[in-house]
Amino acid sequence: MSAIIMDGTAVADAIHQDTTRRAARFERASGRKPCLATLLVGDDPASQTYVRMKTNRCRSAGLDSRRYHLGNDATTEDAVQLVRDLSADESVDGILVQHPMPAQIDERAVFEAIASTKDVDGVTAASFAAMALAEPGFASCTPGGIMRILDAYDVDPAGQRAVVVGRSPILGKPVGMLLLARDATVTYCHSKTANLPDVVGEADIVVAAVGRPELIRGDWIKPGAVVIDAGYNPGNIGDVEYTSAASRARLITPVPGGVGPTTIAVLLAQTVDAAEANQGDTREHSA
Ligand code: NAP
Repeated sequence: MSAIIMDGTAVADAIHQDTTRRAARFERASGRKPCLATLLVGDDPASQTYVRMKTNRCRSAGLDSRRYHLGNDATTEDAVQLVRDLSADESVDGILVQHPMPAQIDERAVFEAIASTKDVDGVTAASFAAMALAEPGFASCTPGGIMRILDAYDVDPAGQRAVVVGRSPILGKPVGMLLLARDATVTYCHSKTANLPDVVGEADIVVAAVGRPELIRGDWIKPGAVVIDAGYNPGNIGDVEYTSAASRARLITPVPGGVGPTTIAVLLAQTVDAAEANQGDTREHSA
């Protein structure tokens, strides 16, 4: 068997086209573009690259972006005050706080300063609770992107055994909860899990969200399983041993070109969602 490759770039492009159309409609109805504010603290080169990619993508979809940058010596209070100001600014629809932040910053305090109506990256406790309770709110973007990929390839999680390897608050935990909400039977694995190969081997859907190159070996994968590799390690290497996993799986995401591109696409889509809600939903006034 050789897996069908799930093309995350194509899924992201489809989301992006829809976002572009909706952003133009919003601008016609409201006289302004949806606006994403980004905050970068410190000078981590990877974070700078991610923020640049996100703002470039905003431009190409017809969104405004405003970049804020605090120095390496910024305090938690500096960052919290800036985020509070952006939360109160009516011309800002979505707020992205790039992380990780420098060690002296209390990331949680900065995230919690984001108004929940502008939390388009889904990082606040309120967004997490809304997702857990299936209430309206913004999903974390990478888990949201993973669900878009599954939908694009007609993978219905209902009744499936899903194994999520990783339990971080931005990725592993929420993707497991989104799968649970779609009626999968979900098992979480982490660094203390015993017999990881056996647990992974029972999965109809495997989500790798660890950050350890090729931790998930190809011969652990149940023949015919769906494999989502959210890992992104130096050298463009995922968390799954790709070639051998692809020889057993039914569907698999590559690295790069799998989960990664959908993350930014969901961020922008959620910024337009926020703009529409902020404006009292312009959809019915569209041309
Ligand atoms: P993280 O916060 O470091 O969490 C890693 C998780 O993996 C933890 O829950 C940890 O378990 C678990 N783990 C570590 N070693 C393990 C092992 N040997 N066996 C089983 N589980 C193990 O990482 P993250 O932020 O979730 O990111 C995970 C990966 O996804 C990284 O490669 C990251 O670059 C990538 N990522 C990609 C995107 C994207 O847009 N594509 C977005 C976010 C993250 P414990 O909880 O027990 O420590």
